[in-house]
Amino acid sequence: MSTGLRRFREPRPADAPAAGECCEMCAEPIEAGHGHVVNVESRALLCACKSCYLLFTVPGAAQGRYLAVPDRYLYAPRFALSSADWDELQIPVRMAFFFRNSALGRTVAFYPSPGGATESELPLPTWERVMAANPGLAGVAADVEALLVDRRADGFVCHLVPIDACYELVGLVRTRWKGFDGGQEVWQAIDAFFERLRARSDELRADHD
Ligand SMILES: [Zn+2]
Ligand SMILES: [Zn+2]
Repeated sequence: MSTGLRRFREPRPADAPAAGECCEMCAEPIEAGHGHVVNVESRALLCACKSCYLLFTVPGAAQGRYLAVPDRYLYAPRFALSSADWDELQIPVRMAFFFRNSALGRTVAFYPSPGGATESELPLPTWERVMAANPGLAGVAADVEALLVDRRADGFVCHLVPIDACYELVGLVRTRWKGFDGGQEVWQAIDAFFERLRARSDELRADHD
């Protein structure tokens, strides 16, 4: 599959020490909390020092081949998505993320699994309908931002996140999943991940308020 996210290198969790880590573009030493750059063609996610990161925040730098992953977090507590829409999206788990792959010219869907990020065939008419119902999230940037949807007992929540946050979640599921249902530890870690996300996110006002 050309969108295979296994080619994405999973970034370290933000709280992990990164001693001795280097910028993957210029080899300068970098610290935990450094930024990331996406290679739009290969979909590789690269750790970047401040100078390299800033270089690729400029639109059109390197002919658009590399893009800096922004640091924007939005939380939509009332994401308009019906259970019927969710069923049509055919996501077999509680959460999935969606982003526009500009090399393919379309939005793609992935969900975390014990084997890593797994692509789910996205029915585009359904996705277009979902996006039309949530105009506040229309500004999500291609390639570097994603919509991370989490199904809760009382409905769906959606986070607009930098794409590297999705890979933190993917890494967490891949490394901590045990047995058939994942086990208590992974679900506690997933809940803690969403709590951290929510704490750092600005709340998106409902579109029809
Ligand atoms: Zn650098
Ligand atoms: Zn990194």
